[in-house]
Amino acid sequence: LNNQSFKEEALKLVNWMTQYLEEVEHYPVLSNVKPGEIASEIPDTYPEEAEKFQKLFLDFEEKIMPGLTHWESPNFFAYFPASKSKASILAEMLTATLGVQGMVWATSPAATELEDKLMIWMQQLLGLPQAWSGSIQDTASNGTLNALLTAREKATNYQINQNGFREQPVFRIYCSEQAHSSIDKNVKIAGFGINNLVKIEVDESFALIPEKLEEAIKSDIEAGYQPLFVMNALGTTGSTAVDPLEKVGAICQKYNLWLHVDAAYSGAALIIPEFRWMSKGIEKADSFVFNPHKWLFTNFDCSLYYVKDKQALINTFSITPEYLKTENDDIVNNYRDWHIQLGRRFRSLKLWFVIRSFGAKKLRTIIQQHCDWALWLKQQIDEHNDFEMLAPVSVNLVCFRFNNRKISEEALNSFNEKLLKNINEAGKIYMTHTKLNGKYTIRWVGGHPELTKTHVEKAWQIVLDHACKLN
Ligand code: PLP
Repeated sequence: LNNQSFKEEALKLVNWMTQYLEEVEHYPVLSNVKPGEIASEIPDTYPEEAEKFQKLFLDFEEKIMPGLTHWESPNFFAYFPASKSKASILAEMLTATLGVQGMVWATSPAATELEDKLMIWMQQLLGLPQAWSGSIQDTASNGTLNALLTAREKATNYQINQNGFREQPVFRIYCSEQAHSSIDKNVKIAGFGINNLVKIEVDESFALIPEKLEEAIKSDIEAGYQPLFVMNALGTTGSTAVDPLEKVGAICQKYNLWLHVDAAYSGAALIIPEFRWMSKGIEKADSFVFNPHKWLFTNFDCSLYYVKDKQALINTFSITPEYLKTENDDIVNNYRDWHIQLGRRFRSLKLWFVIRSFGAKKLRTIIQQHCDWALWLKQQIDEHNDFEMLAPVSVNLVCFRFNNRKISEEALNSFNEKLLKNINEAGKIYMTHTKLNGKYTIRWVGGHPELTKTHVEKAWQIVLDHACKLN
């Protein structure tokens, strides 16, 4: 592509993108291709000669599009939506064009300084302690890994960084039975050993029971372990359960443990002061992670990681080879030292575009509507004889199942599994499941910025129709 053909193709692409966004609701939300179907369309080896862009794009439309699930559809109610917005897409186009690497201040001062400011804006928006410091990372999984590593190093005076695990105590890490699996993966990676991750029992709302946490800590101390780290879920993946942060924080203070808050999804609701009951006690936390790429209309990836002790974080990660030294190192943030990887994308640009193009007021309105519509859906389920709620609604996730009270638990599980499969195969909406107390649970979560009440009403009608057909 030369400059002229780049421009022509780019303009065509923008038209295609606009049409896609206009028509996205007409695609089946969940791709229905079979495993291997897409791979069979792609040659087994690479082209030796250059190919025309038009040909390439045609192949994208014909061979790749059928294998895509449409996360951009407002009828995507699965997992946690990765909801983006048009302003964010435009920023991503700019980011891709500029190709900026923001690893140190000098590699693009604007990238670092915009990120400095955006982290402050977000602190204010979310109601987080102003003394914290933070940076934008790729994912919540990596934010949590950073927290574990920093906690480990701070507790050992950076000895594991220096000398490895020799002669170190056996550390224990705590989280609820409902915590996201990224903690399990990170405990393995950070060298603690998965058997030292202690899963604490939850109550009927799937939130961690603080008394059980304290019991586990005490018994571990008696057994010669060293309790190190507690992860408090501010919105679990299964049901958006909220662990009691204030009580968990008091226990962490009593035993001098690092308190990490995983607000990867539900953190978006903190922009509305009425939802800050979820973050009551936040000042006791040592670190906090939240993903604007989930429910704040910013393209994947964009995850905010805050830490109380910035110096401990930097001490843990800092390595300065000669070729990365710059004359301003003492007076600027070099974000390469705030996480594992060196290279970093210019992620603050899209978040800046999102916040400015919506404005905080509009963002609050949209998030509040999503939560209100989740409550509307809950009400339909509560009022229907053949359905039941399986978890409280804290934000915009509704956990439910069909239950006509005539069949066994086992049969109910199979029925709901089949019901969800039929709904998804029909392609009008897409939801996913979890299991709560052994019950097959259908999860509906509405987080698209252009979601309307009509989408929610239609989704409920689709559930009713399929349940009626299957029953
Ligand atoms: N924590 C929670 C509560 C989540 O729901 C998820 C993902 O859904 C994660 C962490 C991991 O997020 P990421 O994909 O950004 O690593």
